[in-house]
Amino acid sequence: DTPMLHWFDAAVAEDPQRTAIVDARAGADERRVSYGDLDLASRRIAANLVRMGVRRGDVVAFQLPNWWQFAAMHLACLRCGAASNPLMPIFRERELAYMLDDARARVAVVPKVFRGFDHAGLLRSLRPRLPHLQHLVVIGEDGPEGFEQALLAESSVPVPGQAPGPDEVVQVLYTSGTTGRPKGVMHSSNTLMANVLPFIERLGLSGADRFFMGSPLAHQTGFLYGLWAPIVLKTSVTLLDSWDKNRAWAAIQKDRTTFTMGATPFLVDLTDAESAPPPAEVALRMFVCGGAPIPRAVAERGAERLQIKIVAVYGMTENGAMTVTPPDAPAEKVFSSDGLPLPGARLRVVDPEDRVLPTGAEGRLQIHSPSNFLGYLRRPQDYGMDDDDWFDSGDLAVLDADGYVRITGRSKDIIIRGGENIPVAEVEELLYRHPAVADAAVVAMPHPRLGETGCCFVTLRPGEHFDLPALRDYLEARGVARNYWPERVEFADALPRTASGKIQKFVLRERARSLAE
Ligand code: ATP
Ligand code: MG
Repeated sequence: DTPMLHWFDAAVAEDPQRTAIVDARAGADERRVSYGDLDLASRRIAANLVRMGVRRGDVVAFQLPNWWQFAAMHLACLRCGAASNPLMPIFRERELAYMLDDARARVAVVPKVFRGFDHAGLLRSLRPRLPHLQHLVVIGEDGPEGFEQALLAESSVPVPGQAPGPDEVVQVLYTSGTTGRPKGVMHSSNTLMANVLPFIERLGLSGADRFFMGSPLAHQTGFLYGLWAPIVLKTSVTLLDSWDKNRAWAAIQKDRTTFTMGATPFLVDLTDAESAPPPAEVALRMFVCGGAPIPRAVAERGAERLQIKIVAVYGMTENGAMTVTPPDAPAEKVFSSDGLPLPGARLRVVDPEDRVLPTGAEGRLQIHSPSNFLGYLRRPQDYGMDDDDWFDSGDLAVLDADGYVRITGRSKDIIIRGGENIPVAEVEELLYRHPAVADAAVVAMPHPRLGETGCCFVTLRPGEHFDLPALRDYLEARGVARNYWPERVEFADALPRTASGKIQKFVLRERARSLAE
C-alpha cells in the first residue's frame, strides 16, 4: 500500500550511479541512463509540468517509442500527481484524435520524427480538434516547444508535495480496440503494483536479472515488466525502439540480459535469427510469451535452440498478466495452457446465467484480483465488475484439473447456431492451414430460422481460388460437423485489424449483418 514512486526513490537512494536504462535506439549511439540521471530528469520535468499549469489529476499524454524519455515522463507525472497516458508510436490520426480528446490530455509529448513519420506535424494539425490540449512538446526539436527547453530545463518552480496517493489514478492506458472502441483503463499505484509484485515472485525474478524490452512501453507488457519490474528490483532494462532481430540479439548479448517478454513472433524471430549466438554465450534465461496461444512447435524449438525457459502468459490492459506457466511447470503446460493465476488472483468460468461451471467446461472467464483496474474513463456502463469484485474478462476459457487456464476465444465472438455454440477458433485454425487462404475470420451472421450462422471472411493468396463448396469439401474432409460449416464466404483484400494486429471482428460482424439484410 505505497505510492509506486517510492520504489523508484528507493532504487535511487540505494545507488544513484547504477544503470536504470540502456537506450539502444536505432540510428543513435547507445545511451546509459543511471537511476540518478533519471531522478534528476523526472524532477525537472515535473517542475516544468507544474509551471505549465498541470495539476494533480490532470492527464499528460506521451506518444513515445522505447526511449529513456518515456520513463522520465512517467516518473515526472508521478512526482507532480498527473496521470500518465502512454500512446503507442504506431497510432495515427484516427487513434490519436480520439484518445487525446477522450483522455482530455492537457500536455502531449511526441517525437519530431520517428521511423520516417512526422509526429510533430500530425499533432500540430490535430490541435484545433483538441480543446483540452494546452501544450505540445516535441523531442528532437529546438525552441520553446522542444523537449529540452520546455521540459528538461532547470526550473525554479517548486514541485509541491503532491505525489498521488496509492489509490489515485496514475495511469490511463487504452485497450487495443479488438472488440470495439479502445477504452481508457484507469489504474492506481495499488492496482499496478498488485500485478508487478506477484509476477516477480511467481517467476523468481531478482536484482540479479537484467531486462530486455523490445515490446512497446506504451502497452501494459512493456510498462509493467519493461519499466516497473526492473525498478522494483533496482536493476536495469535495455530498451529497443523498433524490432529488429539482429539488433535485439546484439543488445541481449552485450548487456547480458536474462529476461524478456513479447508476442510470439518475437520469439520466432529470435529463434530463427542467423545472428543468434550459441546459448553458452548468452545470459538470457526466460522468454515470457503472450497475447495469443504459443504453437507447440514454436515453444519447443525456442526452448531447445536458445536453451531458455518459455513462459506462457495471459492478461489484459485491465489487470496486467493474470496467469503464467511457472518456471517449474511441466513443459506440456506451456503450449497446452496459458498458465496458473498469479498469487493473489482467482479465476472462475461461468455460464450465460453467471453460474460457476465445473473444471473442463468452456465459459466466460471472470477474474478476482487486487490488480483489477479502477474503471474505464468516461464509460462507467462498461465497467464489467460485479458487487464481489469479479471482473468479466470478455474472454472464453476452460480451467483444467490442475487449475491451469486455456483461453479459447472472446465471448462477443461466440456464434450460436440453432442453439448450438460453433467452435469458431477450430474452424479458423483449419482455414489458416488451407493453401489458398492467407487470412481468415469467422463471425456471426443473422439467420431468420437458426438465429445465427457462420460467415467466413477470407483473404486469398495471390492467384488462388476458393469458394463456399470448396470450403465445405475441405471441412468435411477434416471431419468437421456439418452444422459448424460457415454458410457464406466473403472475400476481402485485407481484414480489419487493430494497431497491434488483432482482427476486429466487430467490424466484420457489422458487415455480415448488412449482408444478411
Ligand atoms: P478491447 O478490450 O479494446 O477489445 P483487447 O482486449 O484486445 O481490446 P488488450 O487489453 O490489449 O485489448 O488485450 C487483452 C486481450 O488479449 C485478452 O482479453 C485476450 O482476449 C487476449 N489475450 C491475451 N493473452 C492471451 C493468450 N495467452 N491467449 C489468447 N488470448 C490472449
Ligand atoms: Mg479487452
